[in-house]
Amino acid sequence: MSKEVKMLDTPPPGHAGEGFFATKLENLIGMARANSLWPLPFATSCCGIEFMAMMSPTYDLARFGAERMVFSPRQADVLLVCGTIAKKLAPILKTVYSQMAEPRWVIAVGACASSGGIFDTYSVLQGIDKVIPVDVYVPGCPPRPEQILEGFMQVQEIAKTENLRRRESPEYSELLESYNIK
Ligand code: SF4
Repeated sequence: MSKEVKMLDTPPPGHAGEGFFATKLENLIGMARANSLWPLPFATSCCGIEFMAMMSPTYDLARFGAERMVFSPRQADVLLVCGTIAKKLAPILKTVYSQMAEPRWVIAVGACASSGGIFDTYSVLQGIDKVIPVDVYVPGCPPRPEQILEGFMQVQEIAKTENLRRRESPEYSELLESYNIK
């Protein structure tokens, strides 16, 4: 009995012929990274519920190889900040980010994480990019689970195409220094 095996991802760019496929190591690493991202949800309010919906069987983040949620920053690849971040919480968010190993990516999920949202007030951080670098912003209050998935797929695309030396580049060090992150 033969079972059809379907490809879950397209192969990286390269040269294919009869019985061979050649590509760059960078492409292969990018593909592996993009399909095994471990998410760390930093959920503080309503947007966290949308994140939970995204993990549910209906939306199923597991389709992207990312069902392995992790609550230790040291093993996490993608930090999803879902919800309002009070200024008092900002240093904790920064510590969590600092403890993540490279390569690491950040998604600001929803209006609050992206810009403070409707809470234009003294106690709320007006966007997490005031304290950590952000790769993808997901708009909405709250965003639908599909939108968070779209944001996640954008991070996959970044991971797939990121230059392997980017994290050692002076530009990247400069970016971290601008946030006072070592
Ligand atoms: S963006 Fe809207 S739904 Fe999300 S945490 Fe803020 S108030 Fe709640």
